[in-house]
Amino acid sequence: MGRDTGAKCKQCRREGEKLFLKGDRCYSRSCAVSRRANPPGEGPKKRRPRRSQFLLHLREKQKARRIYGVRERQFRIYVAQAKGVKGATGTALLSTLEQRFDNMVYRAGFAASRQQARQMISHGHFELNGRGTNIPSLILQHGDVGSVKEIRREKVKAIVEANLGRDVPPWIERNADAMKFQLIAAPDLTRTGLDIAANLIVEYYSR
Ligand code: SF4
Repeated sequence: MGRDTGAKCKQCRREGEKLFLKGDRCYSRSCAVSRRANPPGEGPKKRRPRRSQFLLHLREKQKARRIYGVRERQFRIYVAQAKGVKGATGTALLSTLEQRFDNMVYRAGFAASRQQARQMISHGHFELNGRGTNIPSLILQHGDVGSVKEIRREKVKAIVEANLGRDVPPWIERNADAMKFQLIAAPDLTRTGLDIAANLIVEYYSR
């Protein structure tokens, strides 16, 4: 399965909750989940079928994949890598997702959504540890520094300034003036603001 190219709001309605895929709109009253919580294609009164265990696992996996904007193939690789890490597989998986470059740019408040962050990185606006990169899927390590390239600052200034008001999680240190951030600690998965049952995802891939 490739990248989800369908309407973002439909993806949220399919999962039955906000996945925050559209930046500012997600925090406004225009959010489709706030207005119509039923899944796309179903009338509001249709009775939902009872969910099988498989469906529960599948939906949780799809939810995480959609939130972080990761393709199925890449997601599968993350799960396999997490299984090789000491400790809980689910924790290792969510940590990896949190430490993706595009997610970190979004978390640092330099983009309105993960998708926008991914696009900004792909367009070559960022560098990692002083070296230009256009790879949004890089996994940052403790101490890594991401920054907007000096020659691109004017170009992205408006986007960055529009998002600086968002809270930055404690594992990221941001220097807004220098348009840079650093990963200073392991992500605290209890403070991501996301409700993802990683154990269900691991179950899905253990069938
Ligand atoms: Fe999801 Fe955002 Fe659309 Fe709301 S506005 S349904 S949170 S993508």
